[in-house]
Amino acid sequence: MSNSLFADASKRLEKALKYVSLSEDTIEHLKYPKASLAVSIPVRMDDGSLKIFQGYRVRYDDTRGPTKGGVRYHPNVSLDEVQSLAFWMTFKCAVLNLPFGGAKGGITLNPKALSKMELERLSRGYVDAIADFIGPDIDIPAPDVYTNPMIMGWMMDQYSIIKRKITPAVVTGKPIAMGGSLGRDTATAMGAFFTIESMMSKMDRLPSETTVAVQGFGNAGAIIAELLSKVGYKVVAVSDSQGGIYAKKGLDIPSIRRYKTSSRGIQAIYCEESVCSIVEHEVITNEQLLALDVDILIPAALENQITEENVNNVKAKYIFEVANGPITSAADEILATKGVYVFPDILVNAGGVTVSYFEWVQNRSGLYWTLEEVNHRLKQKMVEETNRIWAIAEELAISMRTAAYVHALNRLGEAREAKGTRDYYLSDR
Ligand code: GLU
Repeated sequence: MSNSLFADASKRLEKALKYVSLSEDTIEHLKYPKASLAVSIPVRMDDGSLKIFQGYRVRYDDTRGPTKGGVRYHPNVSLDEVQSLAFWMTFKCAVLNLPFGGAKGGITLNPKALSKMELERLSRGYVDAIADFIGPDIDIPAPDVYTNPMIMGWMMDQYSIIKRKITPAVVTGKPIAMGGSLGRDTATAMGAFFTIESMMSKMDRLPSETTVAVQGFGNAGAIIAELLSKVGYKVVAVSDSQGGIYAKKGLDIPSIRRYKTSSRGIQAIYCEESVCSIVEHEVITNEQLLALDVDILIPAALENQITEENVNNVKAKYIFEVANGPITSAADEILATKGVYVFPDILVNAGGVTVSYFEWVQNRSGLYWTLEEVNHRLKQKMVEETNRIWAIAEELAISMRTAAYVHALNRLGEAREAKGTRDYYLSDR
């Protein structure tokens, strides 16, 4: 178990425990997931055959409210991974002061190998299997890697069919026409953008003098690259799972986004379409992207990208984790000794779940907000919590990651204590 992702994720917690005074009860609770469900999902494939898929949902901790977190479709999904991601969601929701605990779900598959109809049957089958485990006041799924608004719409619809009542607040990240929130699609990147902007102004760095490399060109990576390039940052490299491109002068991100379709890699777009002629560029691997001499590195793909093996190649001064868990705890230690500022996932990518919370609030109140209102509230929350974590890091002379855990632990501890702990029951008062 020692080389599991969850064991590695737990190390983050151990480090922060030194800086908080929590009851033993809180610490004991946080070591274990509240409930884990593993399901087999039978799906009738287009060719008539039957295929069984493995799915999971883990509700890690609900001390602060119903559990919340995305559903991932990926070949590497395992119970260990889902549990780790659910653990991170617990802290992420506490960092942003959302009235939620943490959860995560996943199905082990290569989604690109399924037709759209097969994907719909699979998504509805997943909800059939976990329907008693979720609910607007219990656990609320959302999008994650390789899941999207349409899949969320199918899930909400299936849950509503099972319960015989329209229940939009059971899933977030839905299409707008089914009760989704404006701004949810761009929320993860927008939230990261607000954190980057507030940290860079603290560091007195001008966008025009700041180079950026982004690993991953999905919903989060592509949008953050575009937001940064629009305000003048020099985005010099981007990549997807096939590889990347680098141009010293900076890349034309809006054109790359326009040309990119699900079936075509970044490298092909850049060379076959008109953007190719705009600047000279080099074709690079994902490994090379992580080692570029840039100011800001943004891992926005999957976990375990910067490890003990490649951490010494990293030259960036600031790393903003838009993906969940892209740096292993061992690599994190090395980056700290090198003086690299690492801004953690549980803060940087929390914009997604924050707007999911706004969506849930809108679904329950029946009153829908404008895009300006959503982004305004998102900015307020991201900037406020970034500043608080920065202040804790400064005061205790600890990393931003440990400070984020300290911040979350204080909130989790307070909620747990309000329910009564050993200290309360054993005291004479
Ligand atoms: N999957 C996203 C995350 O890791 C969003 C979760 C949500 O919106 O509930 O934060």
